[in-house]
Amino acid sequence: MSVRAEDVADLVIRSRRAVLPEGEGPAAVAVRRGRIAGLHPYDAVLEAAEQVDLGDTALLPGLVDTHVHVNEPGRTHWEGFACATRAAAAGGVTTIVDMPLNSLPPTVNVAALTGKRSAAAGQCLVDVGFWGGAVPGNVKDLRPLHEAGVHGFKCFLSPSGVAEFPPLDVDGLRAAMVEIASFDGLLIVHAEDPELLAEPAGPGYAEFLDSRPGRSERRAVELVAALAGETGVRAHILHVSSALCLEPLARARREGVRITAETCPHYLTLTAEEVPRGATEFKCCPPIRTSANREQLWQGLADAVLSCVVSDHSPSTPDLKVPDFAAAWGGISSLQLGLAAVWTEASRRGHGLGQVVRWMAANPAALAGLDGKGAIAVGNDADLVAFDPDAGHTVDAATLHHRNPVTPYHGRTLRGVVRATWLRGRVVGDTPGGEFLRPSPAGARSPGPERATEERPSP
Ligand SMILES: [Zn+2]
Repeated sequence: MSVRAEDVADLVIRSRRAVLPEGEGPAAVAVRRGRIAGLHPYDAVLEAAEQVDLGDTALLPGLVDTHVHVNEPGRTHWEGFACATRAAAAGGVTTIVDMPLNSLPPTVNVAALTGKRSAAAGQCLVDVGFWGGAVPGNVKDLRPLHEAGVHGFKCFLSPSGVAEFPPLDVDGLRAAMVEIASFDGLLIVHAEDPELLAEPAGPGYAEFLDSRPGRSERRAVELVAALAGETGVRAHILHVSSALCLEPLARARREGVRITAETCPHYLTLTAEEVPRGATEFKCCPPIRTSANREQLWQGLADAVLSCVVSDHSPSTPDLKVPDFAAAWGGISSLQLGLAAVWTEASRRGHGLGQVVRWMAANPAALAGLDGKGAIAVGNDADLVAFDPDAGHTVDAATLHHRNPVTPYHGRTLRGVVRATWLRGRVVGDTPGGEFLRPSPAGARSPGPERATEERPSP
């Protein structure tokens, strides 16, 4: 008689609502040496050092948030790796990928990436990957950054908000794409056409919204799609806020262009109509738009034109959020709240946890080339979340782990509470166990989000 090795687990977690790629249902997940070693019936008899039974609390894969501005080093008083990764874990996020700007120096060459890894070392409670930046004059740095392990390159087409990270013009965009295509990398784009942006005509939200119209996003998406088609690069549109982007994205995909897109919890949750006077914690670029637009974004997700929902957590100190929409810092803090915010709205629209997991875990993992993340599957890292989908809670900004207590979700009642988070089979506590990630080699990758989302939602 031999006991199968996978049956002698370090940990077994049982849930009547385990969210697996093939659907939601009762299961027992066996964990061995930090990885998912086996998936079994809920009531299977399994040997393990530790057993956890979640009952009706759902078990999800740890979320993968590919759009987080940590700001350390250089602007650590805005947000740092210790606070950001603590907030992530509390929100059910076990992997973040850090944006190349708002920290100092920006991650636009290997020396800056090395500095960022040094700054983050020993502080991270969840796993961390890094994006590089594509800025004017750094085409020669892109391949070395790729070889040093960035997940891809972010660029702007309009001013970024910080002087040290300037935008690319059309020629610069094409040159970056040609270079990135030469090693089959990924370009991620903040897509607003600067020619269609203006200075706000006044301090209110209406004037701010008018100054950044949806057609600016649409025209930028059309440019990126055309150049991605021309150069063959893999491109991804960040934080789609305007539903005007959906048609050109869908058309480009039909034409075979390698382009994907994401949106963010705030565009799916908040609306321009409800922004209180002077409440610049609601300011971000591109802006939160009308409720009608919000419904079209939900349709874009249902149609898989948008494949990822990630936070664009972009905090600042409260003093930069002056009550003037023309002058305030543009960025929304929500790393800890994304799952509950999206689940609140998704469940209202008839989407299940499986769909939310696809948008917030599986597809972002595929985007960033993170094999072994984003799904409860044998061989994957045992990054897991106990999530009570029916519990409600009212957000108090002061109790969040974000460094600064500024968020537009303050006072909102959200559905869903994270009860526990495991990283590689260990409950995330106070001991930093996060690792630095690199993308898996292209040949070994699972299908990108464009394919993964074309399946129908599981029942
Ligand atoms: Zn961002």
